[in-house]
Amino acid sequence: MNIYADNAATTKMSKAAIEAMLPYMDEIYGNPSSLHSVGQRANEALADARMRIATLLNCEPREITFTSGGSEADNQALISAAKLGERVGKKHIISTAFEHHAVLHTLDKLGKMGFEITLLDVPENGLITPEEVEAAIRPDTCLVSVMYANNEIGTVQPITEIGAVCRAHGVLFHTDAVQAAGHLHIDIKAQNIDMLSLSAHKFHGPKGIGVLYSKKGILLSNVIEGGAQERGKRAGTENLPAIMGMAAALEEACHSIDEHAAHLIPLRNKLIDGLAQIPHSILNGDKDKRLPSNVHFCFEGIEGESLLLLLDDKGICASSGSACTSGSLDPSHVLLAIGRPHEIAHGSLRLSLSEDVTEEEVDYMIQAVTDVVTYLRNMSPVWRELTSGKSEFIIK
Ligand SMILES: *Cc1c(COP(=O)(O)O)cnc(C)c1O
Repeated sequence: MNIYADNAATTKMSKAAIEAMLPYMDEIYGNPSSLHSVGQRANEALADARMRIATLLNCEPREITFTSGGSEADNQALISAAKLGERVGKKHIISTAFEHHAVLHTLDKLGKMGFEITLLDVPENGLITPEEVEAAIRPDTCLVSVMYANNEIGTVQPITEIGAVCRAHGVLFHTDAVQAAGHLHIDIKAQNIDMLSLSAHKFHGPKGIGVLYSKKGILLSNVIEGGAQERGKRAGTENLPAIMGMAAALEEACHSIDEHAAHLIPLRNKLIDGLAQIPHSILNGDKDKRLPSNVHFCFEGIEGESLLLLLDDKGICASSGSACTSGSLDPSHVLLAIGRPHEIAHGSLRLSLSEDVTEEEVDYMIQAVTDVVTYLRNMSPVWRELTSGKSEFIIK
């Protein structure tokens, strides 16, 4: 059996997305800034994609900026809000300890530029509360950035309520919605969102394209300088094939959110219940307030890397957490943020399901993970110490 269970890292492109791109590679290949007919056809398509995406998100087309992906959108959102704050003497930013590195590393940079950064603690259930956000807001706070859904443990934050708190205090609210877009409902107006990032390759669109939504009136700072594309706020010839693919993928995904959730949630729960049967294992993140596709566990006495390699041998593509941290030996900052000790954080497994996963595949994954964990533990000196009572279990 071959199961791709790493959809939080990236997804397979949908047929609709691929088909939507093709004409813009060999027929309507003009530069949207050109005045001739091939350019103008490209420009019309660009406007059409912008409008369709704006409709899906419930905002205006001019509030959409196309970027190279989620990382660039996050960078530009934070840098823009910080510069706007600085102009009026507000240099305090609130975010959380379990954001994506595109947010955290940008905040590090802003910290070095003299901004004061408050990273909210994340409770063990992986859910930030609006009260926690409100308590951190100060008169000099210019921005709150809280992700919609976490990319490792999949927990879904109460962003509508957090947005309402920010609005009541006159503070800009940005949300990294890269894991949410196409999977959870987004309504920019109803959810009190001032800025939002999304990325096409997380919802079956192409890689290297994303959106920064910024409410009209928010002056963006350029991250890429050059030509006057994107209202002068993001230079570079528009990646029209990718933009058309993203629009098609987002439409397809947004129209099936409820249907996909209805299929995924029972299977996700079955997978969670099955893996919870493994002794000394623990689910990371709230059991219900999580993405319909996300299952994330820690297993005591296990090295995440060995687990992944053996699962790959059994045809299962999984991850230990985020693609950005694998390959390094540092434990995930997300798991440390929710209070998992280093030893435990190393033995983590994320299975991020695709919408077409079957019950048979879920059964296979439960069996394969159970077998591999048992096999690895039987060879492990750490496990022997634990079972002989020489050291104590952390996960009871
Ligand atoms: C994948 C991801 C990003 C980065 O998006 P890219 O398009 O790959 O740059 C940012 N934030 C979250 C939550 C993500 O999952």
